[in-house]
Amino acid sequence: MSRKHPPSAGSVDANITADLAAASRILAERGVVDGFGHVSMRHPNAPDRFLMAKSLAPALVRPGDIIEYTLDSEPCEDLGRGSFLERFIHGEIYKLRDDVNAVVHSHSPSVIPFGLVKNNMRAMFHNAAFLAAGVPVFDIRKGFGTTDMLICDCAKGLALAETLEDKHVALMRAHGSVACGDSLATAVFRAVYTEVNARIQLSAISISPDGEIEALETQEGILADKINRTAGMRAWNLWRTQIRAQTNW
Ligand SMILES: [Zn+2]
Repeated sequence: MSRKHPPSAGSVDANITADLAAASRILAERGVVDGFGHVSMRHPNAPDRFLMAKSLAPALVRPGDIIEYTLDSEPCEDLGRGSFLERFIHGEIYKLRDDVNAVVHSHSPSVIPFGLVKNNMRAMFHNAAFLAAGVPVFDIRKGFGTTDMLICDCAKGLALAETLEDKHVALMRAHGSVACGDSLATAVFRAVYTEVNARIQLSAISISPDGEIEALETQEGILADKINRTAGMRAWNLWRTQIRAQTNW
């Protein structure tokens, strides 16, 4: 007997699914995701639903691979397609954060060290201004003990969302990170520049004899982030145009 799915909130404009599929490929091209990782966006017409690709390497995602989910991360209609094990990251962040409309989860390599050590990730330059609000680290051991590290149910997703609190990025100890934004373009921008920031911070540490780094201050971060969310979208337009040239969608 086939399992009953929750009802769909309705179809989505083809440009939206094309942008979401393109976001997946942009993140792959920028080295943020590889065979793993995913990006989602809230359903534009239904805040209690989100959209995400089926379980697939991000560089291969096409618009037809997008599935609609409830905020409990149940597929509304998967047509037999597999879902990402860690889709609960997305559903639980959307539940807790009305202001978030897109989420990226990645294991981008330069970011990982900052989830392992006491040296906090800080905003190294204006493009990464969103980090100046603070970058919490989620440790799955707190509350769940010894696990396979994956966010594979609502309880673990909720714990991660609570650690993220009102910030834009959270690191996940010995796993990866999440970046979010009020739009798909902003979440992708933040995921890309979190990885770039990590590389810059590792360089800054290596040339600082006393370990002191003059990072962006909180207020500087707020001011610079405001600019990034408008003029900074030039980067999204470039990346989106590059994907369109390769795919015709
Ligand atoms: Zn993961």
